[in-house]
Amino acid sequence: MPKYPIDKLITDFDETISERDTISTLVYTAADTRRGEKEQFLAAWQEMVQWYLTRYQRVCDAWLNHQHSLVDYLKSFEALETASIQRVMAKGFLSGLTKEGLDAAGRNVVKKPGVDRVLSAMRVSGVEVEILSANWSVALIQGATAGLYDQVITNSLVYDAAGRSTGEIHLHVVSARDKLRKFREHKKNPPAPGETGDGGVIRTAYVGDSISDFLAILDADLGVLIGQNRTAMETVERFRLPTQRLHEGVRFNPSLSYQGTILLIDSWTELDDFLSIAE
Ligand SMILES: [Mg+2]
Repeated sequence: MPKYPIDKLITDFDETISERDTISTLVYTAADTRRGEKEQFLAAWQEMVQWYLTRYQRVCDAWLNHQHSLVDYLKSFEALETASIQRVMAKGFLSGLTKEGLDAAGRNVVKKPGVDRVLSAMRVSGVEVEILSANWSVALIQGATAGLYDQVITNSLVYDAAGRSTGEIHLHVVSARDKLRKFREHKKNPPAPGETGDGGVIRTAYVGDSISDFLAILDADLGVLIGQNRTAMETVERFRLPTQRLHEGVRFNPSLSYQGTILLIDSWTELDDFLSIAE
């Protein structure tokens, strides 16, 4: 059984654990409850997606060409994120869903290769695994990741007395700053003086794929960016963020500090090869 030099792993969900973003999974599941109005509903959703993408690109372009800090750049997305969530709620895109339907949709979510094996092995060896996501449905994430987590921290749909979602969302995690705040609340801290600990170094790792993960990645003892998200790579370059690409054969070195460096990986297997210590 492998051992890992971390005590906790906090990970994003969409495009970090899942292969693709699951927002459209949520909306298509809702569309299936619309019967006669399905086409109209999906056309309105496509319009919503275009509305969002056009504005997202504008925010990217406006800021990447100016001198600002990373935090200010990430903050500049918050108004759009809030406005788009308000629109999603006002137009009722997420109404009519049930927890059972979302759980079933979650079980059909395609995950990245190796993620089941790596997260399971970590949990068996005593690493706590928490999923920290700006997704809108806890039930969908739980359906997709059964057995792989100790806790899921995300937003949740509001349900009526009959168990159908009303279209409203209880919001807890929306922005990069929210993710940082939740990460700091949940990361493992060294035992306070007087408390018994095993005397070892306490480390929390964070894995994410997009710019909304950057503040948590940079705050973690071991911060990992998975994949090649275009905006994420442009942001790394624009702000000259310190990175280290994990090459085959390079192993975790307990005498080095990795905090403040973004470790670049393409797969969960690469992360496992870097971290795991064969027993
Ligand atoms: Mg993501």
